[in-house]
Amino acid sequence: MLLQPVRKRRLHVMAENLDVIIMGAGPAGLAAGLYCGRALMKTVVLERLIVGGQIVEAYDVDNYPGFPDVQVVSGAVKNVVAEGFMKRVSAESGEYVAPIVIIASGADHRRLHVPGEKEFAGKGVSYCATCDGPFFRDKKLVVVGGGDAATTEGVFLTRFASEVKLVHRRQGFRARAVHMQEARENDKMEFILDTIVTEVHGNDKVTGVTLRNVKTEEESRMDCDGVFVFIGHEPNTRYLANLLPECAGDVIPVDYNMETDVKGVYAVGDVRKGSYRQVGTAIGEAITAAMHAEIRIKELTAHS
Ligand code: NAP
Repeated sequence: MLLQPVRKRRLHVMAENLDVIIMGAGPAGLAAGLYCGRALMKTVVLERLIVGGQIVEAYDVDNYPGFPDVQVVSGAVKNVVAEGFMKRVSAESGEYVAPIVIIASGADHRRLHVPGEKEFAGKGVSYCATCDGPFFRDKKLVVVGGGDAATTEGVFLTRFASEVKLVHRRQGFRARAVHMQEARENDKMEFILDTIVTEVHGNDKVTGVTLRNVKTEEESRMDCDGVFVFIGHEPNTRYLANLLPECAGDVIPVDYNMETDVKGVYAVGDVRKGSYRQVGTAIGEAITAAMHAEIRIKELTAHS
């Protein structure tokens, strides 16, 4: 894969003569980079945090065999504008110009937005069981959510915790049957349904939560040492306000080639509208985009 020799410490670098700029180095961004590189397109991958994306937080990746090893330039993307058929990407590491942009910037953890959540983040409130679970040996934990993340990470946390109370806002679960069964069969897990967390309490660290039953409106207080929040994700698309104003902060509609309404701009993985949010599907989408980009680049540059 061809990469521009640009590093974060060399700010305001101008990288031109690129064919493709990929934003995000999660599984989708890395797969797109691999395929663009294999097609000898001059490609740069920009990543604000860590290579691998959210999947590095997963305790066990049981639905994809692995992902490629490619190089990445560090630093967040701040703005993207179209200048004719070219796209200009302003990032912390510099300015990049190319006819093709692949948006693979993924999503962030959704927050509860209740009092105490922000205050106790890192002091008992967590969004990553793999990272923080080992700090809660023989402790009482609350897990919030009703999807695959809450159930699988809840089960993982029982390895350390003395008890895990899974709080979910309704009776029905989004989690797949296999994960539900594992959670239900775990002696350390208990489900508290039709219930939301309305406040996280503590002093220097978490000591409990306030719960509200959404059917009876009854409030109760429960002691715990940690609160793990697994209530889904929000797409990282706010930096696209100029390029795709209607999608900034939201998911991005694409056609079957993963191309947006702007020619040469693709969206893949968790940022795409209708994403299945799986490593395998994100990688398939990225490969589709990378292969179509080869066709599009010829069209766009033929008219220049
Ligand atoms: P998800 O499937 O979107 O589930 C989010 C859960 O959080 C839902 O139950 C939702 O409740 C609840 N929720 C949302 N906002 C809330 C709020 N403000 N307060 C309280 N509860 C709230 O998200 P996910 O579990 O992170 O999974 C995302 C994707 O990753 C899925 O496709 C999943 O299959 C995949 N995944 C797979 C695995 C695996 O295979 N091992 C593990 C983790 C995730 P409602 O149901 O009422 O909307």
